[in-house]
Amino acid sequence: MLLERWVKHEDSSRVTSDRSPFQPLGGGCMCERVRFEIAEPLLGALYCHCKRCQRRTGSAFSVTAATAPGSFKIVQGADLVGSWRPPDGWEKFFCTECGSQLYTTDPEQPERLSVRMGALDADPGIRPSAHQFTDYAAAWEPIPDDGLPRFPERLPGAMRPPQSEV
Ligand SMILES: [Zn+2]
Ligand SMILES: [Zn+2]
Repeated sequence: MLLERWVKHEDSSRVTSDRSPFQPLGGGCMCERVRFEIAEPLLGALYCHCKRCQRRTGSAFSVTAATAPGSFKIVQGADLVGSWRPPDGWEKFFCTECGSQLYTTDPEQPERLSVRMGALDADPGIRPSAHQFTDYAAAWEPIPDDGLPRFPERLPGAMRPPQSEV
């Protein structure tokens, strides 16, 4: 039921229709040395307005999407992928050549992996379905009136898809 809340925001014609079966998603970094593939539809996505995301992206917020366990694979440039693990959060992976943010994993369960949506090549079909850490949102970028639920702190655990992260 909780996952349905996220899944309903998917564009089902892209993700589940028999007429257009799911095609693996491609993605990568700016310098194109690191490439990845995602073999299954993404599970859900959200906007994060926390200060860490602001610093990491150099922008007002980040958009991250949960992957199905085992569906994400680096297909090129694995030796260029670096990471930073904060003391209290998921490990953040990026291209050490160009600095592009790529994905994040749960240090205790690395199969829980969320991808930075901006790193994807094309439309993955899903849409972000909530805003979290809105109390920390940048003063210079009002959160759009898009009708999505807003949470002043982290998205409540019960609402999160199985592999979500900030
Ligand atoms: Zn790169
Ligand atoms: Zn964040």
